[in-house]
Amino acid sequence: MDAEAFSSQFEAHRVITATFFAHAATVPKASSQSLVTAISPKTLAARIEDLLPQTQCTKCGYPACRPYAEAIAAGEANYNQCPPGGAQGVARLAALLGKPDIPLDTTHGVERARPVAVIDENVCIGCTLCMQACPVDAIVGAAKQMHTVIAELCTGCDLCVPPCPVDCIAMVPVTGERTGWDAWSQDEADAARARHDRRLARLERERAAAEARANARQAARAAQSTQAAQSAQPGQPAQKAEQTQPASDDPEAKKRAIIQAALERARKKKEEMTKLGAGPKNTDHVSAAVQAQIDEAEARRRRLGLADDANASHPDKGDKPA
Ligand code: SF4
Ligand code: SF4
Repeated sequence: MDAEAFSSQFEAHRVITATFFAHAATVPKASSQSLVTAISPKTLAARIEDLLPQTQCTKCGYPACRPYAEAIAAGEANYNQCPPGGAQGVARLAALLGKPDIPLDTTHGVERARPVAVIDENVCIGCTLCMQACPVDAIVGAAKQMHTVIAELCTGCDLCVPPCPVDCIAMVPVTGERTGWDAWSQDEADAARARHDRRLARLERERAAAEARANARQAARAAQSTQAAQSAQPGQPAQKAEQTQPASDDPEAKKRAIIQAALERARKKKEEMTKLGAGPKNTDHVSAAVQAQIDEAEARRRRLGLADDANASHPDKGDKPA
């Protein structure tokens, strides 16, 4: 579908009608059925987001497709910053916005065949960092177990590549000569968006649960302190309840220790495998273009605050410029 046809079809669906039939004994029969027509309240940002490919790749410079759409609507970002949408994506946005069709801004990446992530399962150490980075939950696996990518769900965003401490994720092109919207369907975009939304909702639930647990622990400690102060003999110092808490109760310290241990295991395993001549292969002959994309993805993750200190401290990753 060309951009003009797409735009007119989009406009045709913009108006949503809803019919409500009201039945009330006190209302005269002639008016007992009323038709209410409502105009869709879709904002410009929502209509722009509908036209984005929903790869959630952050290449546009924003943390996901939705914030980029909001920035375009607010006049803060140009409409040619989405490499996965390619030239056709820019044309769609131009048609919606009533602006000229302009070339893709390649400082955000080039239009390319769509890749999917493939994990070298012999090298994977099961650190889960790629799972945490995947914006559409396309990676499955458990801690210390080999991980794998569900190819049908992968949007080709590259975001799982930089965090992998053993460089065992390769991006493999799967659409031949087809690029942009020729390599990605509206159904795939809708599915990726739904998965991204579900992921955000899950992360928010997990954040709220963690906060509730931390508050409960803090309240328990405060209650213990009060109890200790009340039971102290006059003239004797109150027992410090905090001292009875083992350091391992600090969830942040626990998390840091787990990540540190995983990185240490990864480093050792990488060393051992390199000695045996069986180190990661997909990093040996990476083309300059792919390496540049990986570096860009990593720098973007840092700028957006999506990379944590654990990743930054990785000896092979931490020294790359942001
Ligand atoms: S598997 Fe990797 S490349 Fe594929 S969507 Fe997830 S993070 Fe992106
Ligand atoms: S980041 Fe790499 S090593 Fe860690 S689970 Fe993913 S593929 Fe395996």
